[in-house]
Amino acid sequence: MGLMNDMSAAPRPERQRKPDWIRVKAPVTKGYHETRKLMRDLNLNTVCEEAACPNIGECWTKKHATVMILGDVCTRACAFCNVKTGMPRKVDPLEPEHVAIAAAKMGLEHIVITSVDRDDLPDGGAGQFVKVINALRREAPNTTIEILTPDFRGKMRPSIEAICEAGPDVFNHNLETVPRLYPTIRPGARYYASLRLLEEVKAHDPLIFTKSGMMLGLGEQRLEVHQVMDDMRSAQIDFVTLGQYLQPTPKHAKVVDFVSPKVFDAYGSIARAKGFLQVASSPLTRSSYHAGEDFAEMQAARAAKLDKGKTRPVVKKA
Ligand code: SF4
Repeated sequence: MGLMNDMSAAPRPERQRKPDWIRVKAPVTKGYHETRKLMRDLNLNTVCEEAACPNIGECWTKKHATVMILGDVCTRACAFCNVKTGMPRKVDPLEPEHVAIAAAKMGLEHIVITSVDRDDLPDGGAGQFVKVINALRREAPNTTIEILTPDFRGKMRPSIEAICEAGPDVFNHNLETVPRLYPTIRPGARYYASLRLLEEVKAHDPLIFTKSGMMLGLGEQRLEVHQVMDDMRSAQIDFVTLGQYLQPTPKHAKVVDFVSPKVFDAYGSIARAKGFLQVASSPLTRSSYHAGEDFAEMQAARAAKLDKGKTRPVVKKA
């Protein structure tokens, strides 16, 4: 049933008005339309569209998109996420090649690949991530690769091992919110399992950059956010992202508050003091927002710190 039909008889739940700092320009540029056409032509889904990301105008104009593999139907129903829930279709065998062609055609320096949850698959979808990474290395060898994965519930260890062996540059998995809010916001997930996933990635390959993020404005308390940052540091996560949660439709979890840019700055300073190599904290920050620039800065930060000479070499365009 469509959203309009769904909502017609029910009283409209209240939605908070967005503050000025959340308003963004409508996507009308040539670059935006070219990115959109390429994604359609190659039959690729993007989280930019599925999540109704407010940054789509800026990112697609710059030919930066986050490709969502393994279909557009998710086996879970998180209260914050706009992706459809249900029984997904069969995995598309052409998808890895299509992702690689898109990266090559767009001349991307950095690509972010994410997926829906595929609890229906024996490996949780890890094999498709491996195939996409391999296809990208073959077709777009100058492109650095960032993956944003699900938690591979129950299949974590073999999935992590397989993906780490394929050698992405950045392994991202979002904690999304504080542990107290998991039962309502991420009911199908476990906070400590997500944390352990990132810890195991680092244990498997210390040279892969690990990254995780949270949405703010869901009712979390300041000290809870600090605690999550401490947990992330204990798991040796390199990069933290903090952004404002936006309610995609009235059926999703409500925004409890719009966190001001000043408060985001304060969280950013605290995160830096806690020792993250890279921090992105602002109302419009998303895991993949400015991901390429952030990756370059993170590499430089590691090189300048103590791992000089141990950083995985990245082939850059001449
Ligand atoms: S921030 Fe990420 S999800 Fe949003 S439009 Fe940019 S690339 Fe897409």
